[in-house]
Amino acid sequence: MLHGTAASDGIGIGRVMLVEEHSLEYTHKTTEDTEEELQRFKNAVSIFCDNTAAQADALRKSAGDKEAEILEGHIQIIKDPYLSGEIEKLIANGQCAEAALEHMCDMFISMFSSADDELTNQRAADVKDIKTGILSILLGINEVKICAAPKGTVIVAKELTPSMTAGINKENIVGIITETGGKTSHSAILARALEIPAVLSVNGATTKLSAGEMVITDGCEGIVIASPDENLIQAYTTKQNAVLKQRRELEKFRGIATKSKSGETYELFCNIGNQDDAIKAIEHDGEGAGLFRTEFLFMDRNSVPTEEEQFNAYKKAALILKNKPLIIRTLDIGGDKALPYLGLKKEENPFMGFRAIRYCLKNQDLFKTQLRAILRASSFGDIKVMFPLVTAIDEFRAGKQLINELKTELKKSKILFDENIKIGVMMETASAAVIADTLAKEADFFSIGTNDLIGYTMACDRGNNEVSNLYSAFQPSVLRLIKYIIDCGTKNNIPVGMCGETASNEMMIPLLISFGLTEFSVSAPSVLKVRKAISKWTKSDADNVADKVMQMATEKEVSDYLKTIIR
Ligand code: PEP
Ligand code: MG
Repeated sequence: MLHGTAASDGIGIGRVMLVEEHSLEYTHKTTEDTEEELQRFKNAVSIFCDNTAAQADALRKSAGDKEAEILEGHIQIIKDPYLSGEIEKLIANGQCAEAALEHMCDMFISMFSSADDELTNQRAADVKDIKTGILSILLGINEVKICAAPKGTVIVAKELTPSMTAGINKENIVGIITETGGKTSHSAILARALEIPAVLSVNGATTKLSAGEMVITDGCEGIVIASPDENLIQAYTTKQNAVLKQRRELEKFRGIATKSKSGETYELFCNIGNQDDAIKAIEHDGEGAGLFRTEFLFMDRNSVPTEEEQFNAYKKAALILKNKPLIIRTLDIGGDKALPYLGLKKEENPFMGFRAIRYCLKNQDLFKTQLRAILRASSFGDIKVMFPLVTAIDEFRAGKQLINELKTELKKSKILFDENIKIGVMMETASAAVIADTLAKEADFFSIGTNDLIGYTMACDRGNNEVSNLYSAFQPSVLRLIKYIIDCGTKNNIPVGMCGETASNEMMIPLLISFGLTEFSVSAPSVLKVRKAISKWTKSDADNVADKVMQMATEKEVSDYLKTIIR
């Protein structure tokens, strides 16, 4: 039995697929022998087409015609005379096959992803897959295709990257096991969004588990069992059915307002990572989106998305949400979220370094492009904007100042936008929390980002297992900061939400009700669970719990006590 972090609820029983992410970097070179280079490219395309046809056949048996046709479409795209012709022309002019392929594919990706309709956007993902596939062949890398995984597959990887998740078909992948990542890592957040049971931080998972081996992924307890016998499979199938039954029972909380037992109403939003996640938010009965992590739009590509691409993404999310609130967080890059094409220097302490609003304020062209796109999209829904990693009020003022300048420009150009767009602060650093009184006088709202607030308060990295005993929202220091932030917001009549993972922790809910939080933003699959948890508490019962907790001196006292309360 292997142990790890329980990161996404549920039980997955299936066969291991080992997934390795290879670097697709290469040295740009010009070639003298263009004929030979052309042949190298043609060979790679032919291998790619053969592999893809074989995968499509396998997929037809396991998933059906529709899925297989998507893969077969890749063969047609690369054989398109214009695309392959242009690549061949570049090679004939001396470019190496890798560079020629990348240049043309990127052109198509950018063109397709800026289109307004979903079908054309999907073509961009197809071209991305083609590019990765052929580049891997040219570089001699053996790529495992997650998108072609058969039903009942458990993915085992060092880390789950956004590009991997793009290929995950929820029908076929029943579990995720990784070697890195804590409960609030992006792997965990993505696994929960996909509703796939996941156990992360399993030491040596990629070497201890073998491809094709049967494995149980217990995402509730953080346990992985390799080669289970019949009895264990039976026991875990029973547990799996119990989890599914609990989920069905939550359905009675669908379609109703989010209220405490004593009648106070709360907003219950979802965290989203792209425009299409807004659909999931609606499907899970979210009342809006409390955090759009825009960095995902910037990832898994080779250049910054254009204003038009971003505008289309934000507008689409707003239209899907149909006037329900949409809080767009500006680019939160750096720390664990790398963007190789920005050419950021490697830093000793990336979490404390040049990232998020710090980076944006020093790269104003990029920042303004994003802010203009958000402002333009604001005429299509109830959009608010929020800055990440604020530590000092000057940063907030500088961001707001840019928005004001852009508003004037847009007005001059007669471009529509919401003139009263609300501008908020993501409260996720200890510094922001301590000056919450000052920030609350100038910000329109707060959203508490506990994932980082815990880390920056406790001085511990959220992904580091060695210090995970310190990383807890129930640390008295963290609780005091959360309470203080909410108090300052309440005194200044601004709403205070929470978009960190703590917002969906059942043990935290009485405290948040008592402190006066007004909005919870959680992963889409947690909506009904949180609505149910809120409905159990009257304000006065929650106040009693909070009074006791705020007298306690240690994390253990707090969490032990809250465990008994929840039971
Ligand atoms: C947070 O820090 O709590 C948060 C929601 O943002 P992220 O997890 O994207 O850093
Ligand atoms: Mg954060």
